[in-house]
Amino acid sequence: MKVFNTLSGQKEEFLPQGDEVKMYVCGVTPYDDCHLGHAMSYIIFDAIRRYLQFRGYKVRYVQNITDIDDKIIDRAAKLGISIGELAEKFIDRYFADMDALNIGRADIYPRATEEIAKIIEVIQGLVDKGQAYPAQGSVYFRVRNVPDYGKLAHRSLESMMAGARIEAGEEKEYPMDFVLWKASKPGEPSWASPWGEGRPGWHIECSAMSLRYLGDTIDIHGGGQELIFPHH
Ligand SMILES: [Zn+2]
Repeated sequence: MKVFNTLSGQKEEFLPQGDEVKMYVCGVTPYDDCHLGHAMSYIIFDAIRRYLQFRGYKVRYVQNITDIDDKIIDRAAKLGISIGELAEKFIDRYFADMDALNIGRADIYPRATEEIAKIIEVIQGLVDKGQAYPAQGSVYFRVRNVPDYGKLAHRSLESMMAGARIEAGEEKEYPMDFVLWKASKPGEPSWASPWGEGRPGWHIECSAMSLRYLGDTIDIHGGGQELIFPHH
């Protein structure tokens, strides 16, 4: 069986690393109802998983839920409810919609708010290696330390720099650096960390959850094209 490898840009023989195929698929941010794009994405990855099982593979399928995010905070504040209430409502509706489409469920649905310890551990590891740096209560990933940064999207750092700028209030060393830990503003939901009260950035959430539930190596990372850079 051959699959298209985004990194090489070619179809390659599918060779899983172990005796089960490890799949991580980027999940929803439950601040609103799902749309057709969600349905399409999850049907595709469910079909891939079912086909692998049909071919005799054991599959371990993890799909995260990003239950803390700017959009969730804004929406919950507008409705006058907690972020937990908002997320719970749209997680229920997500499952109802996907079940109605006969999309099989993942084996595990880790939630960002329940994985803070692992997320902090991963960020601390990056800080210790000089791959990330704290600045005013936030922590940023240092993209210039990665020589082949952007290789999955086949783009160079220079080509991506067009239009990148440091927003007001951001204490980045470099415009393309992205946030791993976001210092919280007063009144926002937050968790204690070595860098102060804050919440995780989206990219590191998936890295931490993938490491925790699937280990250092995975076979398939699923998500829409628009996630290739910078998320994957
Ligand atoms: Zn993700």
